[in-house]
Formats: sequence, structure tokens, C-alpha cells
Amino acid sequence: MSPKNIAVLGSTGSIGTQALDIIAEYPHLFRARLLAAGSNVDKLVEQCRRFRPSMAIIADQSKYSYLRDELEPLGIATACGADALSDSMERDDFSTVLTATVGYSGLAPTMRAIQHGKDIALANKETLVVAGEMISRMVREHGIKMLPVDSEHSAIYQCMVGENQESVSKLIITASGGPFRTRSAAELQNVTVHDALRHPNWNMGAKITIDSATMLNKAFEIIEARWLFDIPADRIEAVVHPQSIIHSMVQFCDGAVKAQLGLPDMHLPIRYALGETVRLKASERVMTLADYAELTFEKPDYERFPCLGFAHRALNDGGTTACVVNAANEVAVAAFLGERIKFRHIYDIIEHTLGHMPFAAEPEYEDYVNYNTEARRVASEYINTL
Ligand code: NDP
Ligand code: MG
Repeated sequence: MSPKNIAVLGSTGSIGTQALDIIAEYPHLFRARLLAAGSNVDKLVEQCRRFRPSMAIIADQSKYSYLRDELEPLGIATACGADALSDSMERDDFSTVLTATVGYSGLAPTMRAIQHGKDIALANKETLVVAGEMISRMVREHGIKMLPVDSEHSAIYQCMVGENQESVSKLIITASGGPFRTRSAAELQNVTVHDALRHPNWNMGAKITIDSATMLNKAFEIIEARWLFDIPADRIEAVVHPQSIIHSMVQFCDGAVKAQLGLPDMHLPIRYALGETVRLKASERVMTLADYAELTFEKPDYERFPCLGFAHRALNDGGTTACVVNAANEVAVAAFLGERIKFRHIYDIIEHTLGHMPFAAEPEYEDYVNYNTEARRVASEYINTL
């Protein structure tokens, strides 16, 4: 059997580099055919020298000439910009796309990939947050497979093997609680970027690490689960589990709860998604139950972490609400990382933007594009007043 050809979008990031570890580990099963990054051209060139894809794409136009000059002598095609990335999804030298770019930038290439019959290993949860209804419809229409990389959704997927959708009574998504789980509301007023970037269990890119600190990441994961598993929002709940050993659970109609456990390490869910649920042998350290004598659970605190509430609000409203929440959050997180706003402002900016945006109940792709642009403008203007 020839190896599966894969496009890795966001190859230089946290998920992208771990995916390349796995591709390197199983050369008889996987081959990287296209690598794409945002602006880290040195790392992209280094990856291309090692993995020899047929094409490399960089979003940042100013880095393009260097990429071209380094890679074209090796026979690797190059391109730059968002449109080139989407267009490249029509190439026929790969069948699976791992979407590991961060934020809204994942939507357009994922959509094009689905339209061209590619299977998706989905890390970029923002694609389903922004346009979950449209994307899940496209997945059905084009008959492609969309396998989750996000650890919680991978866990749910694993719990669902051999089960009927009709027997599911509840999806239980675990949350570590982030770096501020035990901080009081007063303490949360003064947390710094440095504090927020210190996640207790997971080592991830900056944006998702801040989303974990506000717990908006968990709200996004509820939305992601709603579309991936076609389960109504009122049957999806979050529970805080500080050890991050149980990656999520499914409760069935007979009361049984199935869980998937493992160390907090993304190699497992990435490997499971690329292998399309075939279990491949791990090379990293795996868990020993005795090392975790205590697994604990807490109710999430919607007062200290009000961003959690955006999940049910977005799913109850439907339409463009989640797209607006995502856009405002991306602008707010960038401002927080740039130390232009305080941590608590992230919630205020999303709330303000929602309150100042129109609403479309049945959006199509162009609506998402327009609402994303407009919500960013509203959020940015509000930041200037803070
Ligand atoms: P990182 O910030 O580490 O990496 C992001 C990647 O996307 C980088 O390769 C970056 O390139 C690239 N990129 C950024 N902007 C663009 C763009 N406009 N066009 C093309 N590529 C771009 O993020 P993570 O790996 O942490 O997260 C990636 C996605 O996976 C997110 O949606 C996140 O929510 C999700 N996820 C991540 C988990 C994790 O453990 N990290 C767990 C579960 C989900 P460059 O390096 O050049 O900037
Ligand atoms: Mg997750």
C-alpha cells in the first residue's frame, strides 16, 4: 500500500510540528506533500528540506522571495498568500488535509479542500465555530471524512466506536480549567500575559493558550462538538478535570459512561486522525494509571469565566453569532498578547461586538466573510476606547 499523501496547513506551529513528527515516524504510511505556514519562513524551509513536499506556501508576502529562492532549486513549487493556499487545495497530489493554522484563516482552505473531495483532519476548531452548520452540510454533501484532532473530540470519537448515535444521551467535555482555575474574581483582574501563557498541562500555541485561560476554548469546543457529532447543544456539557487525563466522555441512554484516558500529549489524537482510527504504536511516553491516583471533577464557574456562556448563546442564536464571537475574540486576544488591554477586557470586547453587530440567521460563505471583517472592525474600534 502506498503512503497517504497529506497537506499540513500550519506546519510550523504546535500541532503542525507534532504532525510532522508522526509523518516522519511512519514513512510507509504517511507522506507530507504540501506544507503551509504563516510567516516563519526559516522553519518552513527547514521542514521542506527534510520532508521534500511538492509545494510550500507562506501567508506572509514579504517572506515569499526567500522561500522561492531556497526551494525552487530543490524542485519544490512555492506560492504565497491566502488565495494561493485555498487554490492549492485543488491539487491532486494529496488526499488528506490536516488543518492546523490558527483562527479564521482556516475556514477558506478547509472549505475548498472539502469541495475537492479531500478528507480533513481537523485541528483548526475555529472553522467549525465560525461556520459549523455550513461546513457540516458540505462534509455530508461531498461524502468526505472529517476526523477531529482536538483531544476532547478525538476522545468522544473513540468512545463512539461501536455505538449508535441514538443511544447517546450526553457528551461530557473535560476542561483543565486553565492557569486561573483557582484564582478569585478579584485576582483575575490583574493577571498578566506571562501568567496567562503558563498553561498547567498543555504546551500549545499562544492563541489557544489564552483561549484556555478565558475558557472560551471550552465554549468553542462545545460548538465544535455540536457540529462534529450532530448532537444538540443541551446534551453537551463541560466539566472541569484539572489533571487533563480523561480527555472527554460519552454517556449513553443506559447510564453507562465511556471515557478515553491518556497523558496530555497531542501526538495520540493527531496519530489517530491521520491513521483514520487505526491504532498505531506510540513512541512517546504513555500513561500509567498508578501515577494518577486521583482524578477529580468540578463544575465550571460561569461567573468567573463568563466566556463559557458564549457557547450556548451562540448555539441557541445560530446564524452569525459564533462567527462574531470568534472574530472579536481574535482581535481581543491579539490586543491582550500585545499588552494593549487587560485580561478581563477580552470578555467585554466580545460582548460589546455582539451588541453592535447585525445578525444573519441563515448565512452563506460571503456572509461569514463580511461578518468576520465587520466584527473585527467593531472590536478594534472599541479597543481604542479602552
Ligand atoms: P500555533 O500558533 O502554534 O501554530 C499556528 C500555525 O498556523 C503556524 O504554523 C502558523 O505559521 C500558521 N499560520 C498562522 N496564520 C496563518 C495564515 N494566515 N495562513 C497560513 N498559516 C498560518 O497554533 P497551534 O498549533 O497551537 O493551533 C493550531 C490550531 O489547532 C488552532 O486552531 C488551535 O485551536 C487548534 N488546536 C491546537 C491544540 C494544541 O495543542 N496546540 C490542541 C487542539 C486544537 P507561523 O509559524 O509561520 O506563524
Ligand atoms: Mg481541546
